[in-house]
Amino acid sequence: MAIKRIDHIAIVVDDIDASLNFWQDALGLGLSHIEEVTGQASIVAFLPSGESEVELVEPTNRTSGVAKYLAKRGPGMHHICFEVDDIHETMGKLKLHNVQLIDEEPTIGTGGKKIAFIHPKSTGGVLVELYELTPEEPQRRYRLIRRMQRRLVARGFVAGAGLREFVRTWRNHNRGARTSRQTSPLP
Ligand code: ZN
Repeated sequence: MAIKRIDHIAIVVDDIDASLNFWQDALGLGLSHIEEVTGQASIVAFLPSGESEVELVEPTNRTSGVAKYLAKRGPGMHHICFEVDDIHETMGKLKLHNVQLIDEEPTIGTGGKKIAFIHPKSTGGVLVELYELTPEEPQRRYRLIRRMQRRLVARGFVAGAGLREFVRTWRNHNRGARTSRQTSPLP
């Protein structure tokens, strides 16, 4: 059982576009791609740094876990994710150490990777994510999927403009949707 690397550090923000003023413009990290993760009701920007990534996460509704986190605690670091070579073994070892897990079994995420979260109660207050690539979904394929997503975003949404412009367009559209939902008489 081995921890391979930090895969990503997720930071919850209320405005990805404004956050990029620091992470992209001032600090100088590259923005590899942006995607809307509908299953998690959020838009995510990926900024690689060496073998790891900073992931900026902006919730797209007010009811998701991330949205509630943002409302309660404000913007900031949300979780740290380690890539492991064997997630079941890692989770078994953690249980032996009486570490409280949020997921008793790994769930399957994008690209076929297995994911599990460790409860902050057991980690000194930090939400920790573990992930393992499945043998059927090697790193190469994962990269291909990501590259494809990038191209789809470029073709379908951005049409020649930069990713930054895509975020602005997307946010304006989303804000409109949020506003109209708020004023709706329906519960
Ligand atoms: Zn994560």
